[in-house]
Amino acid sequence: MAILPIYNCFHPILKKKAVEVTEFNQELSDFIKNMFETMHSADGIGLAANQVGDNRQILIVDISQSDVNVHKLPPTVMINPVISEFSEQTIEFQEGCLSIPSFYDDVVRPEIIVVKYLDENMKEQEMEIDGLFSRVTQHEIDHLNGILFFERLSPVRRTLSKSKLRKIQKGDYESSYNMIMPNGEKKSGVK
Ligand code: ZN
Repeated sequence: MAILPIYNCFHPILKKKAVEVTEFNQELSDFIKNMFETMHSADGIGLAANQVGDNRQILIVDISQSDVNVHKLPPTVMINPVISEFSEQTIEFQEGCLSIPSFYDDVVRPEIIVVKYLDENMKEQEMEIDGLFSRVTQHEIDHLNGILFFERLSPVRRTLSKSKLRKIQKGDYESSYNMIMPNGEKKSGVK
């Protein structure tokens, strides 16, 4: 197992659409274990593969330590996830992102979604989800489509966030974990 560096949101890999996974093998199984280790070590609750530099449609969610995990959902792997239904009802919620350290803001998203995906046995799954699980899944599926959460802010909030995001782009911040900067250089975490 290995802790992988997390890519800064301005690295080009986070603007690319991820590619479908067609085969599950030992390499993929090991990679998913590394994703979990990386996410837990950075105190995250969701991670998309492109955040650790891999352009495949894989995301993980683990809200088992969260006090709002009312459904007691176990850590989940979603391969090739697709949202098939959205509720009309939306909800505002503050988001953060391991690729955007020290930046948090409120995003409006559908409250309930139906998501279809392959699990780690490449078995088709379909789930209706709400609450934090829905929120994290939508954020991570956005990553797989090359969308960052600050792109979903209201125009006013987007304007207000500009200088903070510029600092993150330049590396003018501290994170507790190692990162890959937009130019490919490594930035060490500060524990
Ligand atoms: Zn994120």
